[in-house]
Amino acid sequence: METSGLNPENSEILEIGAVKIDKDNNISTFETLIKNKHKVPSEIFTLCKNLSQKELDKAPKLEEIKDDFLEFIGDKIIICHNKQFEEKFLEFHIGELKNKFLDSIELACVLEPFKREFNLDYLKKQITKDKNDEKHRALSDTIDTIDVVNALILRFKDRLEKEDKLTLYPLTFEIDSYLNKFKLENWEWSNIINNADFSLKEKTKTVFEEEKNQTKKSNLKEEEIYKLLGDNKNHYEELLKEKDIWDSKKGFIYEFRQGQYDLTKLIRETFNTNSANIACIEAPTGIGKSVGYLLPAVLEVRYSKKRIIVSTATKELQVQLIDKDLPNVINSLGLSGKVSYGYIKGKNNYICKSKFYEYKKDYDKENPTTNDILSIIIIENLIKEGKYGDIEEISYLLLEHFKELREHIMKVACDVDLCKPKKCGENCLYKKRVEELKDEDITVVNHSLLAKWPYTDEKPMENIIVDEAHNLVEKGYDFFSQEIEYKNFRYFLKEIYPSEFSSSSKYYRDIKDKQKRKIKPIDRFYSEIKLDREVKEKISHNINFIFEKMYDVLDFGINEGYSLITNYDLNWEINLQKDDKVGTLYRDKEYVDITYKPYSQIIKSNFESILSNIKQILVIFDRNIDEDIVDKESEIYKYGKSKIKDLEDIATMLGMFLEDEKGDLVSKIASISSKFDNFILKVVPLNLADLFRENILSALNCGIFVSATLSVDNKMEYFTDTLGINTVDNTKKIIEPIYNYKNRVQVIRPTDIGGYKSDDFVLNMSYNIQKYSEISDSNVLSLFTSRKRLEDTYDMLKNNLIDEDINVYMNKKGIKSLKNVENKNIVLGSKGCFEGVDVPGDGLICVTLDKLPNLQPKDPLYYSIMTKFKKTYFDVNYPQMVIKVKQALGRLLRSKYDYGVFVLFNIGNNTYSNKKLENNLHGCIIKDVNQKNVEENISKHLQKSRREVITGLLIDIIKNKKAQNNNLDFVEYINKEIKNRSIKANVRYYKDTKDKLLVEYYNIKYLVEIDKVCKN
Ligand code: SF4
Repeated sequence: METSGLNPENSEILEIGAVKIDKDNNISTFETLIKNKHKVPSEIFTLCKNLSQKELDKAPKLEEIKDDFLEFIGDKIIICHNKQFEEKFLEFHIGELKNKFLDSIELACVLEPFKREFNLDYLKKQITKDKNDEKHRALSDTIDTIDVVNALILRFKDRLEKEDKLTLYPLTFEIDSYLNKFKLENWEWSNIINNADFSLKEKTKTVFEEEKNQTKKSNLKEEEIYKLLGDNKNHYEELLKEKDIWDSKKGFIYEFRQGQYDLTKLIRETFNTNSANIACIEAPTGIGKSVGYLLPAVLEVRYSKKRIIVSTATKELQVQLIDKDLPNVINSLGLSGKVSYGYIKGKNNYICKSKFYEYKKDYDKENPTTNDILSIIIIENLIKEGKYGDIEEISYLLLEHFKELREHIMKVACDVDLCKPKKCGENCLYKKRVEELKDEDITVVNHSLLAKWPYTDEKPMENIIVDEAHNLVEKGYDFFSQEIEYKNFRYFLKEIYPSEFSSSSKYYRDIKDKQKRKIKPIDRFYSEIKLDREVKEKISHNINFIFEKMYDVLDFGINEGYSLITNYDLNWEINLQKDDKVGTLYRDKEYVDITYKPYSQIIKSNFESILSNIKQILVIFDRNIDEDIVDKESEIYKYGKSKIKDLEDIATMLGMFLEDEKGDLVSKIASISSKFDNFILKVVPLNLADLFRENILSALNCGIFVSATLSVDNKMEYFTDTLGINTVDNTKKIIEPIYNYKNRVQVIRPTDIGGYKSDDFVLNMSYNIQKYSEISDSNVLSLFTSRKRLEDTYDMLKNNLIDEDINVYMNKKGIKSLKNVENKNIVLGSKGCFEGVDVPGDGLICVTLDKLPNLQPKDPLYYSIMTKFKKTYFDVNYPQMVIKVKQALGRLLRSKYDYGVFVLFNIGNNTYSNKKLENNLHGCIIKDVNQKNVEENISKHLQKSRREVITGLLIDIIKNKKAQNNNLDFVEYINKEIKNRSIKANVRYYKDTKDKLLVEYYNIKYLVEIDKVCKN
């Protein structure tokens, strides 16, 4: 079905297509358009290929086709892709239809849960030979669904054959028996799978797993490239001048960029120097940063046998490196199969196979649902071969479709203490990755794993390339901090609580069981070390006391009125900010100021008691474990020891938290949730430079730190000083942007929308954001420094845009929509959208920022830094603020064909600081505009930029067409290439001539003489 919207109550069915297959494999089809009663949103015509209002006008009404459709369907089972959606629509509009529905998404989720996506377009391109885009037309989508279903079933049988699991039992025997164990019926798909006609295999478009061997071709290419380097064998950067090496990718026009060359050259020199082995490089967007550092990395691996770790901050960039950039660079250099790479995360990001099988075996939920059981089967199918099991990689749609999955996964995530890959007999993904690390050339990780690098035995941290390195400064404090969270600590205490006393403890019973177990491992440990009943009772008393003291901390906030004066979490440094005011309370007929002081005192005194009780438990263990009689190698002993180690770590952390030494460089932060149901105590070391030097810099042979935003006021000292890089031999380089920011980006400051605290700020801002989308006829990304403002603006825009053809989204979910240049989309994003949003061309024309991303002056961490290092607010705030603004601005210029408007809604009136900020915007001037002149200003800038963009683009495409000399029709080729670059222009021959082109780009038409472009 194609519909005019997502909600059946206010949307209509516009088209129905169906294919009927009877017992004897006779095939018949049904296809009809349906006349609409209400306006169809324009994006539907964009989405559904060749659907037009004209055709819908000629179509019959729904009532006129209903009977034919019902007769065609009869009592058949209906298979569709996304049953929830189709069933909902059919139920509402054709209530007479009572057929059974089967969902091909569910089939895909159960049989191939490792897929990244489950939409029809993705599945068909992945598992069938049809690589054409989904048409979003009813009948053609139905045929695609049939192809996908066939492919899924055939590939399932193929896998069973490979696993040698084809027996006399039906194909779905294992799935159905597990369901039957819980008295549930066979899986709905079983009948279809088991009765499939496998003799038709050859007639389907199924793609089976195949190995491709390109080694021979690669060898030749590698030799050619080696020759190209001539006498300068080490001067890898010279390869960037060889267009042929990099041009190979379809739809990609390679251009030499001096900035990329400089980046590669400096990295190559740093890898091969005896002196400054640390380089900090600011590499602006658009220079091809990833290829710029991967080229020397790959060649250092190949020719100098170095092993490299590449660290990035965002998951998006890690995926891009692994899926796109690394294979592209390796292929381009003819090194396929000769340079190994992969990425690894911390243990708890993986599903543990051994935990899973135990969980599956012991699973005894009363009356589980079919989806509960299917979720367990999905996990099994996912991890079975040991190739998958990275929790973060599990598709969002899979988790949405099987809501029960998350809970099961939580229970089978790898246990940091128990997992010992060297001794484990399972072939899980985590073990596989740890083993691969030993010989892996390039390993991609995230910054926090790098900071605590736990795989030194497998791969020492010798050569690192850190991308998005500016993040190390802000996140660095987190890397080295320690914390106790109330909820986690409670769970931990329950884990070590002797079960025989649990029923008499009111505290124990209050805690929801996360994992139902018959005998807890800790009880087996207590029995292993032969702990007496009285000793266990003593432990339970100590734990009860700890529970009680923790509850008191939260109750204090409620009883003393703190909960009445705040809607936000409380955060403060317990020694430095104790006299700060939390709010004012009306008590005993008068207003009283409430400070943090009493709360700091109660936290301290309660945790002193808690620490003393923890110490008593540790003493009990110390006295009662006789190392001579226990089996130190037994799993249960190791488990118990790991819990004791956790308890010791907690004691050490609490000891540090409770110390109150004036001169120490540590911040002790207490956070209480606004609902007063959770707290976190945190110890944050402030000597980041020392820690970074000791833990990271000192281990390195070579360290490359790259980012588009490392400098503030054209200097890198903020970065190098904070991380201690200034104390080691280093090189710093700022590479100039290759695009003319001043020309391509207009930075404006609306002057008449009021201050951010004024009542109508959100109203004015919403109005402006909508206006920018209308003026630019394009998408807008609006960045926010406050969650509340973001939500208020979203509500307002949502309301204002009900009858408009502009869509509005919140947060990262909406980023995808920016890639659609045909519609107008507004995406409102917070912190996470300041970076990692990479939308080229006309996808993103306008970025707005609600206010400067300043730090809260009372933020406990920064307050501690200011107090202990005697810094001003400006010293601490300004550099981080500049970097964030630069990051936001960087969203606009990603490629050669980018341009746009950057709006700073509220940046205050301090001319000095605004001028300073301006100096960091690559030459852009902040221009004041008001409601009257905003449209004129933006339109003028866009018109000028669009003319430049389209001219440059046509020159590039025509040049490339000549070089490629392919057979595509001239105009067809140009249009295809324009679309590849996300530019919203269309080209055709002018009238009947073949020497002039008519280019339509937004609301302007250009007449272009082909000869002149060719000569340019
Ligand atoms: S190696 Fe670790 S994660 Fe993998 S199955 Fe064994 S214990 Fe679980």
